Amino acid sequence: APVIGVLALQGDVREHLAVLRDQGAQAVTVRRPEELAAVDGLVVPGGESTTMANLASRFGLLQPLREAVAGGLPTYGSCAGMIMLADTVLDAPAGQQTIGGLDVTVRRNAFGRQVDSFETEVEVAGVPGGPVHAVFIRAPWVEEVGPGVEVLGRVVGGAADGKIVAVRQGHLVATSFHPELTGDPRVHAMFVELVRAARARGLGSDGATAGA
Ligand code: GLN
Repeated sequence: APVIGVLALQGDVREHLAVLRDQGAQAVTVRRPEELAAVDGLVVPGGESTTMANLASRFGLLQPLREAVAGGLPTYGSCAGMIMLADTVLDAPAGQQTIGGLDVTVRRNAFGRQVDSFETEVEVAGVPGGPVHAVFIRAPWVEEVGPGVEVLGRVVGGAADGKIVAVRQGHLVATSFHPELTGDPRVHAMFVELVRAARARGLGSDGATAGA
């Protein structure tokens, strides 16, 4: 089974581990560079992106994360994880660091203070079987995408009509919402497939284990 790490510095780590295991991955926590080096794919969970970035820096993980993601490690970021993967973050505290690699501009807490959380149905390209029930919690949205970024999903209707909330750029996937909280495993299933495919091509953390 592919080994998929969940960055376990802060945020809803357990929920991701559980869904990944249900999808046939060997899910492990990642807090140290050695742990990062041993995974075929990585999930950056929801939580609080400023805190997560500060902890990553303190644990000596920020630079290894940047190198792994830039080097092709399949990575899925949800909510704060999307912010962590973004190249440009709006409405962030001065000096907020990210992992980067995803050629998008995201706006933190974009859905507004009055509606800290909301839920809606989002059609996600690459996820068959109808729309995903999307849970947004002080979520970012994507304001701009670079040429290599595929828009996978947008909000339809309401105040946030048309806002981009799911994207993919090659080995990187990000959603504004939290599929790990809904009991619907389809977004994780798509990501596990992406990790399996990358691993079969020998693009995981350890090409020598491809196909094993
Ligand atoms: N608002 C948080 C941040 O900026 C993200 C919230 C979440 O991950 N649910 O990091």
